[in-house]
Amino acid sequence: MIVDLHMHSTASDGALSPADLMAYVAARGVERVALTDHDTVQGLPEARRAAEAHGMAFVDGLEMSVAWQGRTLHIVGLGVDPTHTQLGAAIAELGVERTRRATEIGQRLARAGLAEATERAEQLADGGQITRAHFARLLVEAGLARNMGDAFKRYLRMGRPGHVRANWLAMQDAIDAIHAAGGQAVLAHPFGYGFTHAWRRRAIHAFAAGRGDALEIVTGVTDTQQERQAAQDARATGLLGSAGSDFHAPSQFWLVPGRLRALPTAVSPVAWFRTEP
Ligand code: AMP
Ligand code: MN
Ligand code: MN
Ligand code: MN
Repeated sequence: MIVDLHMHSTASDGALSPADLMAYVAARGVERVALTDHDTVQGLPEARRAAEAHGMAFVDGLEMSVAWQGRTLHIVGLGVDPTHTQLGAAIAELGVERTRRATEIGQRLARAGLAEATERAEQLADGGQITRAHFARLLVEAGLARNMGDAFKRYLRMGRPGHVRANWLAMQDAIDAIHAAGGQAVLAHPFGYGFTHAWRRRAIHAFAAGRGDALEIVTGVTDTQQERQAAQDARATGLLGSAGSDFHAPSQFWLVPGRLRALPTAVSPVAWFRTEP
């Protein structure tokens, strides 16, 4: 079964609407899919309707932003009840923080030459969660950066003129909100934080100690060595394994939803990888 449990729509920083994303993913043979937008469940009803119309099994998800030891981690929640009040409260807090941060990023970028940055980012987000990716797109459009990566490197990363520290949720609060909503918590892309080996292992251990459920082992950008390493980390900490492309846009031509290596056999997969969920 072709499964992909991590991707983004226009409800956060993805390029496709939830319905268009599901059509795109179904056309690539995916059979079970989760939508996991940053700090929002807004796109889930539309995505579920579209996924099911295309004959796919749909998993309600999100990707929560977490502050841990002065760093940011991403925790994917899978199989959540999107209407659950504790999860809703956590999302509302994250939304307020995203809006506050976006205003400050916009002011800083305006001083760095991007006129009306906050207003334009808000327009681009169009009611979805505002992320740094929206500012990156504006910087590229304005000719201030060559591409998204360049925009992050020159303007949005720590130490750059548009960087603003965010006060995301505590890791435990995110895990607890996901559990309260009936879901499983997955520590996303352990190789995606620029951590040393030691810090990566510390984060995984802290997540497991906080009763996190699974580690994301295969993504659209991991190599086999990273996947083997992550599978070992999951085994050592009693975590299950998950996999998802982290697809954002068709322009990421190197990244195709559902085209993921199988989970290493050393790790037990989360339930959605079995034929009967
Ligand atoms: P935020 O959660 O608002 O800090 O935004 C983070 C998002 O920006 C990530 O989920 C990615 O989609 C995107 N992003 C981060 N770094 C890069 C990069 N170097 N190039 C392109 N997109 C990036
Ligand atoms: Mn993103
Ligand atoms: Mn992420
Ligand atoms: Mn993601």
